[in-house]
Amino acid sequence: MSNSEELIPLSGPDITDADRKAVAEVLAGRTLALGPRMVAFEEALAAYVGRREAIAVSSGTAGLHLAIRALGIGGLDIDGRDASAGADEVITTPFSFVASANCILFQNAVPKFVDIDPETLNINPELIEAAVNERTRAILPVDVFGLSADMTSISEIARKHDLKVIEDACEALGAECAGKPAGSFGDASVFAFYPNKQITTGEGGMIVTDDAELAARCRSMRNQGRAPDDRWLAHERLGFNYRMDEMSAALGLSQLGRIDEILAARAEVAGHYISELSEVPEIETLATPAGYRRSWFVFVVKVMGSVERDRVMDYMNGHGVQCRPYFTPIHLQPFYVERFGYAEGDFPVTEAVSRRTLALPFHNSMSGEKVRKIVEVLREALQST
Ligand SMILES: *Cc1c(COP(=O)(O)O)cnc(C)c1O
Repeated sequence: MSNSEELIPLSGPDITDADRKAVAEVLAGRTLALGPRMVAFEEALAAYVGRREAIAVSSGTAGLHLAIRALGIGGLDIDGRDASAGADEVITTPFSFVASANCILFQNAVPKFVDIDPETLNINPELIEAAVNERTRAILPVDVFGLSADMTSISEIARKHDLKVIEDACEALGAECAGKPAGSFGDASVFAFYPNKQITTGEGGMIVTDDAELAARCRSMRNQGRAPDDRWLAHERLGFNYRMDEMSAALGLSQLGRIDEILAARAEVAGHYISELSEVPEIETLATPAGYRRSWFVFVVKVMGSVERDRVMDYMNGHGVQCRPYFTPIHLQPFYVERFGYAEGDFPVTEAVSRRTLALPFHNSMSGEKVRKIVEVLREALQST
């Protein structure tokens, strides 16, 4: 493929006429915020993951922040506890998108990183108990690349040590662990609807829980701390504007209505990749362990052996195929290094994995032909490096 041809982007939204119509209907009306679409989207998503309550918010990051705050974690919790009371700790993974650890810092709590399993790329449950101490308040596992963390083991550890669980399911709508949906495990779980996720609202997110009181606190805090009866200027606690608007909710509701179709299309694209790449010895695709259903989010491969991932990536980016390293470890992000003094070697499995992982273009409507083209460029890249 030559440079002159169009770049194959890393991801792309899948918007149908029905989606456009749903948004246009909102714009034709008078209620653009705090309206019936938000409530309908919440009810539909709660039903989809089998939860009693869902709270739509303006992003996945906002959802994670509210969930942690509503659970009373951190120095500035909903009861106005003093920030100097000592830092709560939340156990989480360094192999994730930075928001999953940042949301802990938002509350003046401290992320306590635990290394990952080299196969699942999720937090390694066997290492969690060694990280628990008297300041530990919660575990925040992330369902990385659409594969649920080992929520059975994590829930058991949390019960044993009386810890809360916040499931970051932002990459895993439609995934399953032990026959249950991702997002159905934590005290609170959070989904995200940025355009590269399984379904999109543009920007948006959703907290789900079975705890009605927790849900009420989240609803109040997303809406400037207003009382539940929503008297316009009655603010009973410090809140935020983390609301989801009606255009976003209408889009989300429309997309959720064809979630099975979307997940099947994504699984088909992943299937094309897996079969094409089975012939490429330097590339390993991600396995899905028994007892799990992966909901394909991004298509990440591992570049094995002595091949340098960055050179492969540069070649592909220069030859019409957009690729990205996915993820750079959170503990090695500059401000984490500065604040906590982390260094190379602190989480060796995460670091080794993140040197090899590469995200290839992936979206719902990619043809088998396009996948073959991308794999062809990948083979060229491997030969030329
Ligand atoms: C996308 C994502 C988020 C945050 O979602 P936004 O809607 O972009 O704020 C959080 N955690 C993980 C693991 C994600 O992939």
